[in-house]
Amino acid sequence: MTTAADVSTRTPTSSADHRTSAADRSRLALARRAEQARHETRPFGNAKALVCRECGHEQKLGPYFACPECFGPLEVGYDYPRITRDEIEGGPLSIWRYAPLLPVRSDIASIPNTEPGCTRLVPATNLAKALGMKNLWVKDDSGNPTHSFKDRVVAVALAAARELGLRVLACPSTGNLANAVAAAAARAGMESVVLIPHDLEQAKVLTTAVYGGRVVAVRGNYDDVNRLATQIAEEEPGWAFVNVNVRRTTPKAPRRWPSRSPSSSAGGFPGRW
Ligand SMILES: [Zn+2]
Repeated sequence: MTTAADVSTRTPTSSADHRTSAADRSRLALARRAEQARHETRPFGNAKALVCRECGHEQKLGPYFACPECFGPLEVGYDYPRITRDEIEGGPLSIWRYAPLLPVRSDIASIPNTEPGCTRLVPATNLAKALGMKNLWVKDDSGNPTHSFKDRVVAVALAAARELGLRVLACPSTGNLANAVAAAAARAGMESVVLIPHDLEQAKVLTTAVYGGRVVAVRGNYDDVNRLATQIAEEEPGWAFVNVNVRRTTPKAPRRWPSRSPSSSAGGFPGRW
C-alpha cells in the first residue's frame, strides 16, 4: 500500500509543484478514508428518511408505517453519492451488490443473512413468439433460498430490524412470506413468529415449520390474522413485522427492470439482480 509518507519520499523535493501535488493527494486520501468510515457506520446506508408520498413530510427511519401528519403511505428517501455500474457489477452475487441503492449498511453482505437475489433469467422464446416480441426473459426467483421473491424483501426487513434493535422477526402470512421470515430469522439467530389462519393447509405450515421459530394458528381468516399483527406491532416494541411496521424500510420493486437487454451490455442495470 502506498502511504502519504511514501509519496513524499519519492517526490523530487526540488519541485514545489510536485510537493503540493503530493500533499493534495495525501489530503484527498485522508478525506476519502474519512468519508468511507462515515459511510460504513451509517445503519441505513444512503437512506436518509421516511418520506410521505402524499404530503412530503419527512421523519427519521424507524418502525413506522404511516405519516404522522396525514396518515399517508411512507417510502424511503435517499441521498445517493455517485454510484457506478462497475461498482454494482463488482459486488457480491446476491441482492447486496445493490447495497448502495438499498436502506442497508455498506457491510451488510458480511452479516449472516440468506443472501437472496441474482437468480437466473430464462429466455422464454415460445412466449416471446406468441406475444410478437423479439426477446423475452423470465426471472426465475424460485432460485432464492426459500424459492420465492419474498426472500429479497425479508432480507432488507431483517437488516432494518437489526439496526432498530428489534428482537422478533414476524409476519402474518399464508405461504411464501412465512417461509422467508422463518428462514431469515433462523439464519440470523433471531426469534421468529409467523401468524397463520388456523385452517391453512398442512403442506404450507410444514414448509414454514422446518425452519424452526414459532408458527401460531389464529382462529379467523387472513384479515383477522393481519389485524392481530397490526395490534401486536403497535403494542410490542421489540417485534418487527416485515409487512407491517418495518415494511416501509424496505424498497419497493422498481417499476421497470431493466430498461434494455438483461444481458450486461451497455445501458440499464447489470443483467443479474
Ligand atoms: Zn403525509
